[in-house]
Amino acid sequence: MTEIIRDPRALFARCEAVRKAAHARVGLVPTMGALHDGHMSLVEHSTRLGATFRVLSIFVNPLQFGPSEDLARYPRTFDADLARCEAHGVDVVYAPTPEVMYPRGFQTQVEVPKVSARFEGALRPTHFAGVATVVTKLFTAVGPAVAVFGRKDFQQWKVLTRLTEDLNLPIEIIGAPIVREPDGLAMSSRNRYLKGPLRIRASAISLGLRAAFDSYQAGERSPEKLAALARAPVAENFDAIDYVEAVDADSLEPLAGPAERMVLLVAARLGTTRLIDNLELGHDARP
Ligand code: AMP
Repeated sequence: MTEIIRDPRALFARCEAVRKAAHARVGLVPTMGALHDGHMSLVEHSTRLGATFRVLSIFVNPLQFGPSEDLARYPRTFDADLARCEAHGVDVVYAPTPEVMYPRGFQTQVEVPKVSARFEGALRPTHFAGVATVVTKLFTAVGPAVAVFGRKDFQQWKVLTRLTEDLNLPIEIIGAPIVREPDGLAMSSRNRYLKGPLRIRASAISLGLRAAFDSYQAGERSPEKLAALARAPVAENFDAIDYVEAVDADSLEPLAGPAERMVLLVAARLGTTRLIDNLELGHDARP
C-alpha cells in the first residue's frame, strides 16, 4: 500500500523511523505529477541503486513558473498518479499543499546563479530559484537519501548537483537516462497537449538529435556542425526555436573547439507547448 503524507514533519518522522528500525535507504523522486513512464523509470532506478523505502513527491510548484507560464493549466491527475505509484511499489507519495510549502510570509530562496544563468535560466529568469528552493525543502523533509532526477531536464540536474555539493546536503544526486516514446519524443507531462499533426511535428527534435548522434559516430566533433544538424529539422517543423546548442557537458559553457564530450541542448515551441530535450554526445545511446 502506498501511504500518502502531506506534512513535511510527518514525512521526516516516517523516513527517520525506517532508517533507524529497518536500516532502510530512502529514495526520493521529486515530480509535479501527471506521471508517465519516464517518472516511473526514476523510481525503478532508485530501487536499482539500493533504495528500500521509496518516496515520490507530487507538487506543482508555483515558485518555478513564470507569470506567463502554464501553472493554471498544468495537468493534475492525482488519482491516476497514485495508482501508478501503487503499481510500482512506491512506499510514500508526499503531496504537500501550497499552504504547507509556502506559509504566509514565506521569503527564503535558494539560488545557484552561475549554472542557472544560460538556457532555461535565461528564458525563465525565476525558474531555477523556484526549483532549487522547493527541492531544498524536499531534501530537508526526507533527510539522508538518494534522489533521482531525469537527465531530460539536464540543466536542472546540474543545478541540483551543484546545490547539493555547495550546501553539503546528505543527499546523493543521480541523473537517470531519458525515457522516450517509440518515435524518439522524450516523454513529458506536457506531451498530452500535442494532438494530431503537432504530435507528428514534435518528433523533429529527436530526428535532429539522431542526425547529430550519427554524425558524431562517424567522427564529427565540431559543436557548431553537430548543433546545425540537430537544428535543421526543428527549424522546419517547430513554430519557434529557443535554443539548439552544443556546449560543455559540465559547465554548460560554450566550447572553444572540437570536443569528445558535449551536450546538445534543445528547446523549441509548437503552438503554446514548449518542449525541451538533450543528448550527451560521447555518453548517451542513440535517441
Ligand atoms: P516533472 O514532473 O516534469 O517535474 O519531472 C519530474 C522528474 O522526472 C524530473 O527529474 C524530470 O527530469 C524527470 N523526467 C521527466 N520526463 C522524463 C523522461 N522522459 N525521462 C526521464 N526522466 C524524466
